[in-house]
Parts: sequence; structure tokens; C-alpha cells
Amino acid sequence: METTTSTEKKLIDQLWEKRPLIISGPCSAESEEQVVETAVRLKNTGKVDILRAGIWKPRTRPGSFEGVGTIGLPWLQKAKAATGLPTAVEVAMPKQVEDSLAFGVDVLWIGARTTVNPFSVQDVADALRGADVPVLIKNPINPDIELWVGAVERIAKAGIKKIGLIHRGFSSYGNTEYRNAPMWHLAVEMRRRFPDMLFINDPSHISGRRDILQAVAQHAANMKFDGLILESHIDPDNAWSDAKQQITPEKAGELFGSIVWPQKGDVKDDLELEKYRQQINHLDDELFQILSQRMKIADKIGQYKKDHDMSALQASRWNEIIDKYESKGEKLGLSKEFIASYLEAVHIESINHQNAVMNPEK
Ligand code: PEP
Ligand code: MN
Repeated sequence: METTTSTEKKLIDQLWEKRPLIISGPCSAESEEQVVETAVRLKNTGKVDILRAGIWKPRTRPGSFEGVGTIGLPWLQKAKAATGLPTAVEVAMPKQVEDSLAFGVDVLWIGARTTVNPFSVQDVADALRGADVPVLIKNPINPDIELWVGAVERIAKAGIKKIGLIHRGFSSYGNTEYRNAPMWHLAVEMRRRFPDMLFINDPSHISGRRDILQAVAQHAANMKFDGLILESHIDPDNAWSDAKQQITPEKAGELFGSIVWPQKGDVKDDLELEKYRQQINHLDDELFQILSQRMKIADKIGQYKKDHDMSALQASRWNEIIDKYESKGEKLGLSKEFIASYLEAVHIESINHQNAVMNPEK
């Protein structure tokens, strides 16, 4: 076993200030060859600063791959020896902290499923006491910013000096575009609370798929994030975890190269206004998702009516909807005029959907 030396410490100190700071590597370490080859290929892109690999994988359901465990730590040491890239792993329990430190892991991160639980965060914090290692803290799974703040406070109280944040998106009802809804306004609020803290975006866990990784990463850059953590795999389709969102090291290098990072001063620093704008964007996104779901149900109703020889327009049902929402809308601070034009627009779209199903030839 070897622990971190003082030259390695200096490298991490420098990287902590580097912008953008780029972290990449597999969701999970699977074999020594996979970890070393990923590291070498990432290093060859010239775009990556730190190698990530999950060693212990907290999975939502039992039975999926739960990580190779401590035997994977020497693979990371080999990858580092081959490339000079410092390493980062996720820790969720005291033993994982101890093992990672004993094997000279350079950066630790706390995952979303741990940040939600103050007991777990405190256990990790206690295990970290006295250690000189940077710690990145992912947002909790649910959109509760106080849990995220609480985790930062617990880790800071344990004496950790270098703390960074990772925004990986949030579970949200009804969202289908993202694996985890970005809710950028919460990231902006966190930045407002910790303006000087390293702030990294994780497009992989926000997207959950490859085709929108670049757009999410560019959005993060536009919002003045300090860097990215992106999953990469030598054989993405056959990855043992998170296969759909991983890309090859070369593709990751291209993605990093394509991002335009705003210069200091390019972006307005009015974080309060920015937060409100992002909040509106998020709500509009959800609204469109919900409207789309509503129209899919209209399609099903169209099919049902067709099968039962009914007409698309049923006035009594529609009057019932209007009465209900005119009074409900007013209580919610929405004008009668707005409610009427909104309902009419939705109704027309809904009838069009039903008609398209009932009379496909027209
Ligand atoms: C991961 O980084 O592979 C991971 C498990 O992420 P999260 O905690 O964001 O789900
Ligand atoms: Mn993952």
C-alpha cells in the first residue's frame, strides 16, 4: 500500500485551481485492464485532469452490479502510475474512506444516495477527520438544497479544507427528458450560498443518455460551472453500470474540446435573477412534458371512442372541465381570461389528437 506523497499533493492543489477542471472515467471499475486502458486513452486526449471510477456502487435495487470493492483500488494505482492522472472514487461508508486513503486515492466524492442521509454523511465525515484529501459532494437525489448544504457543513466540520460540489440533477415526477432533472435554479442557489466553492457539473447522470450530454455540458459552461465530471468507458454498450450514458474516452475528449467556456466577465453575475430564470425554464419544461402526456391520453381516448363508435366532442364533459378550472384557477391567482384561453387551446389540441386517431385517413 502506498499513501499520497507530497508531490502528488501539490498536483492536486494546482488542479483544484484549474479551470475548467475535467474529471472522466468509467461509472464502475470492472477490471484492471479496463481501468488502465480507460486512463491511458483519456490521458491521450489531452483534455482530462482526474480519473474517476466507482469501486463501491450504491444501486437503487439489489441484484445490479454493486462494484468490485477494495480489490479495484490497486487498479487505480496502476492507472495513475501509467498516466500521472490523480484518481477519484465515491465513498459512502467509513471503511470505504479508510481503504481509499490507504490506497492513495487523491479525491473522494460523496454520491447522491449518500447526501440524502445525514447519518451516512456524518459517518463519512467522522472517518475523514484528520485526513488531508479533497472531497466533492454530489447533490442529494431529491431537490432539497438544505440536505446538500448540511452535507457540506458536516464535511467542513470534520476539518476537510478542499470541498467541491457536483450537480448531478434530481429525481422528479413526470420528467422523461432527463434521467435526473437538472433544475438549474437549485445549482444557481447553491452557488449563491457557496460562491467560492469548486462547482462541477455531471452531465452523465443528468442526461442518462448520450445524445444530450454535449448540450447539458455546454449549458453548465454557460452557467459558469468550474468543470465537468463525465463517465467514459472503453466499451460503453457493454458497461456493467450506466451503459446508456457512457461514451468512449475519445468521444469524451471531443466533447470536452467542443465546449466553449465563457471568459470571466462574459456572464452576468446577477445570480438572483439567473436563479428565477432557470426556475421558470424548469417549470416550462415540466409543463410541456405534462401537456405531451395529456395529449397521449387524448390519443388513447380517441382510440376508445373509435372502438365504441362515439363522437370526439362530448360537450357535457367539456363544460364540467371548464367550470371546475375557472374557480380553481382563480384561487391559484390565475385570471378567468387566462384560464379560458388556456383551456380552449388545450381542448382544440386534444380534439385534434383524438380526430387524428379516429379518422387517420383525413
Ligand atoms: C456515479 O457517479 O456513478 C453515481 C453513482 O452517481 P450518483 O451518486 O450521482 O447517482
Ligand atoms: Mn454512474
